[in-house]
Amino acid sequence: MPPVGHSVTSPSSANRWLHCTPSARLNAVAQQSSEAAAEGTAAHELAEYKIRTFLGEKLKRPTSDYDCDEMEEATDDYLFFIREKLAAAKETCEDPAIFVEQRIDFSRYVPNGYGCTDCCIVADEIMYIIDLKYGKGIVVDAEENPQMKIYALGCLELFSELFDIQRVSLNIFQPRRENISTWETSVEDLRTWADEVLTPKAKEAYEGNGEFVPGDWCMFCKVAPRCRARADSCLALARMEFKPGPLLSDEELGEVMEKADQISKWAGDIMAYCQEQAIDHGRHFPGYKVVQGRSIRKFSDTDAVAQAARDAGYTDSDIFTTSLITLTAFERLMGKKKFQDTLGDYVTKTTPKLVLVPESDKRPEIQVDSAMKDFKGEYDNG
Ligand code: SF4
Repeated sequence: MPPVGHSVTSPSSANRWLHCTPSARLNAVAQQSSEAAAEGTAAHELAEYKIRTFLGEKLKRPTSDYDCDEMEEATDDYLFFIREKLAAAKETCEDPAIFVEQRIDFSRYVPNGYGCTDCCIVADEIMYIIDLKYGKGIVVDAEENPQMKIYALGCLELFSELFDIQRVSLNIFQPRRENISTWETSVEDLRTWADEVLTPKAKEAYEGNGEFVPGDWCMFCKVAPRCRARADSCLALARMEFKPGPLLSDEELGEVMEKADQISKWAGDIMAYCQEQAIDHGRHFPGYKVVQGRSIRKFSDTDAVAQAARDAGYTDSDIFTTSLITLTAFERLMGKKKFQDTLGDYVTKTTPKLVLVPESDKRPEIQVDSAMKDFKGEYDNG
């Protein structure tokens, strides 16, 4: 769903503030809009228009600077998904109720808790919560997703008096990552979680209390580059104890790799933050200064350049090149379906290279023992 105002304990950042409660207040102060958020809002407005039009409302189609085939196709697919859910709802309920961009109030659990669900379908005993994620950063999972659970609680506040809802189906539709994630829970479990986890944590977060707890959620924290708890945790990670001897063992190298990702992400965040602060806001960091970068040569007037080159005896074939736009640019231009229909036959895939990833990665492991032996033989002989 698009951001609705600046809430300290917004559902979209619940995973962060449920784990690290003081981050809520710090992020509320550090709010900033982003291009991705504006694009997401545009996609949601178009999606809302399409659903409401499908439901028979007469509306003016919204337009935005982000209109493109990709957004058109993503919102068409989203509408198709909603229609599928509606059809599924009709199998168990004659006349399911559907609510689009429904304002919700979950302040019973979260102080000042309000928001908006993209789509909610109530079919007697089961309620479907559907969320469009237009972003393509990380793949979002519906299972135990606190944002989705809060939306469900907000919808229960509105509809549990009118319907005998027993189960809740949480659905994330993320078209640009080809991700559909669905998870079902009971209303009873949801309310237990709300009472035992959400309510006490939300109170703590709203009041700015609790412990700083660094973790994966730091990547969505606006104060992450300056956070002392994160710095302490990353530096503690870096304090590794090694055995004596001139070379690190495989176990020790594995330990370094495991920690290097977090540490280099942290260092990268700090560098990016300090660059932006120094260059855009004139802040000074001891030991660093702002200097002029290398200048890049470029033509000031390309038409005049072409004419001057022709006058000097060069032909157009000497001075112009044409080349196709990239595969990704084609896909953006045409949208996935048209791209597949028009150019799909010409797309080939290279054999992917082997990569070393943490064991937690979901891809199956490839046994490379023999390849390693071959390589080692070459290396040893070389
Ligand atoms: S960076 Fe991480 S630990 Fe620090 S405030 Fe943000 S979420 Fe909490």
